[in-house]
Amino acid sequence: MNNGKLIITVAPTGPLTTKANNPNFAQTPEEIANTVYESYLAGAAVAHIHARDEEGKPTARLDVFREIIERIRAKCDINIQVSTGVGLDVPIEDRIKLLELRPTMASLNVASMTFANGVFLNPPWMVEEMINRMNELHIQPELEVYDVGHIELALEYYRRGLLKPPLQWSFVLGVRGGISSSIKNLMTLLDYLPEGSYWQVITIGRHQLAMSMVAMAIGGNVRVGMEDNVYYAKGVLAKNDAQFVERVVRLARELGREIATPEDVRQMLNLRRD
Ligand code: ZN
Repeated sequence: MNNGKLIITVAPTGPLTTKANNPNFAQTPEEIANTVYESYLAGAAVAHIHARDEEGKPTARLDVFREIIERIRAKCDINIQVSTGVGLDVPIEDRIKLLELRPTMASLNVASMTFANGVFLNPPWMVEEMINRMNELHIQPELEVYDVGHIELALEYYRRGLLKPPLQWSFVLGVRGGISSSIKNLMTLLDYLPEGSYWQVITIGRHQLAMSMVAMAIGGNVRVGMEDNVYYAKGVLAKNDAQFVERVVRLARELGREIATPEDVRQMLNLRRD
């Protein structure tokens, strides 16, 4: 179990959150770059990026992603992780094309599933194609798993040599169709990870703070931001994404966890440098 420096990922946008949920939500490339930069200043080392079109719908348009990436790059050296999940209605072929942006990190969803009220399609042919392209371009996959069986599926790719260490996992807890959010479930998922894995908890909604604290206490990493939760406290909307990062940093200090810088993350995960 990795008990080193704490990697904080900020996920500002996601596919589902809207300005109606929280008016401070970052949606345009400029807003996303600004909130990522504020989060970087607060201690985030990774930015998990989704894009929206002019109507606010999730998009895999390369020009929008490019603009977001360029705007972030102009401000700071935070590690940019492109979401290849994108959104439930976005064609698989368009999601695969996002790898051609050559980010150093990208999310990889290994299994299809019911996702809230929709269907999240991640067929085996797509997963294998993505893994192969990620290997060719030296892109670190963030393995997004929503249940125990997803871990077992990823470990199959690992045993076949397609996925290479260090493995980086995200346990997504609390999505309708995936495993629910509880400490017992987190412990069950952890049992399956090979030695030397990096892992973080992504908790949707109100359990986010408690599960983040548990993860921090036992050597895991943390993701925060309005993709997962728009409330800073019960009934209190977050002012921005950095507010969540600041709180994690304060809690980490109390727990004696040092915060990983973007450069620390590049070393820990052996990210491509170019
Ligand atoms: Zn995402």
